[in-house]
Order: sequence, then structure tokens, then C-alpha cells
Amino acid sequence: MTYRIKEIFFTQQGEGKNTGKDFIFVRFSGCNLWSGKEKNRASAICSFCDTDFYGTDGINGGKYQAKDLIEKIKSLWISADNQIRVVLTGGEPLLQVDKGLISALKKENIYIAVETNGTLEAPDGIDWICMSPKANTEIKLRKGSEVKVVYPQKNLNPDNFNVLDFKNFYIQPMDSENYEDNVSQSVKYCMQNPNWKLSLQTHKILGIR
Ligand code: SF4
Repeated sequence: MTYRIKEIFFTQQGEGKNTGKDFIFVRFSGCNLWSGKEKNRASAICSFCDTDFYGTDGINGGKYQAKDLIEKIKSLWISADNQIRVVLTGGEPLLQVDKGLISALKKENIYIAVETNGTLEAPDGIDWICMSPKANTEIKLRKGSEVKVVYPQKNLNPDNFNVLDFKNFYIQPMDSENYEDNVSQSVKYCMQNPNWKLSLQTHKILGIR
């Protein structure tokens, strides 16, 4: 299997429960909810995306076989922590992440986190599944580690996810021209629903990737 990768880089996770932990981010190219082209944004199912996942032209981007991808991941790990961790993100990584890649990463004892929109099923063996559901989509993932709702979204009520088998529930203010209002609404939602916690995009606040 050849994996199409937009970019690969070392940083600290900026969002959710794993905020502040070192990770290699592997950003897969492509998403099933938007083409990634600005001309299609208004008509996309998901129109508030803040990520460039189009193509393979980012830092360390390209077409990889599993073996070469793992070598690249190892070469970029500069943390003093011996445990190598990756976030497989996108775009929508589950369009490409398969059993073969999970098994190859596991053989190298690499901790695997995935960030997905939840519309596709995930292969077994992933250590941390973060699902960020989008309005007007059918959710296929029923269990995982954290739900992270970008808030507010028209036609998406976070209450609907309480029944799913996830351990952590986060509300994250949508990064848009209404950001201050989105923060206020997010804080209010968390205060009224104590099983939901606030997630901020700390990498943006700090100006790091
Ligand atoms: S689902 Fe995620 S990656 Fe895809 S367009 Fe929406 S925010 Fe971007």
C-alpha cells in the first residue's frame, strides 16, 4: 500500500486530553468531507476546515510505503521520551490507514493516535482515537478515547454523542470570525454539561505548529 502524505513533523499536541505531549504528526492527504480546494469550500459538507491537507507537497510530504514512513517517523523523533508517539491525522486519515500500517507501527512499539471525523470505521490496534464529528454526516465510529466537538455547528448537538462509548468529551470553540462568541458559547455549554470539558487550540495561542 502506498500512503499519500501531506506533511510529517514533530511537535506537541495542542488540543484535547493529550495537550502538551510530544508527537510526530503524520498528516494524510485528502478528506471525504471536503476536496481541500477553496473553490469547493462553500458547497462542502464540512466548510470550516482550518487545515491544508491537499496534495503531498508539505514538509516531509510524499508517497510512502509503510517501511519508509516508519523510518521517517523514527528519524524525526527528538523527544527525550523513549516512547515514540504518532498522531495519524489529515484530512481524513482513515481513508488510507489500514491494518498493515497499524501492524507495522505496532511492531516498532510506536504509540498510535488517530484524529478522525468518525464517518469511517477504524482498524483494530489504535491506542487513542479522537473523533471530531461534523454536522450532517453519519457517524460510524461508536467507541474511542475522546470526542472533540468543534462548537457551535448548525445541526450538531453534542448531547447526541453522550451515548457513545468514549472516555473523554471536549468542546472546542470554532476558529472563525465569530471566535469570541464561539468561546462564550463553548464555556456556557461546558458549565451546563459537566461531562464536557473545554479544549483550546493551544498551538495557535502559542504560535507553534
Ligand atoms: S472533516 Fe476535518 S479534515 Fe475534513 S474538511 Fe472537515 S475539518 Fe477538514
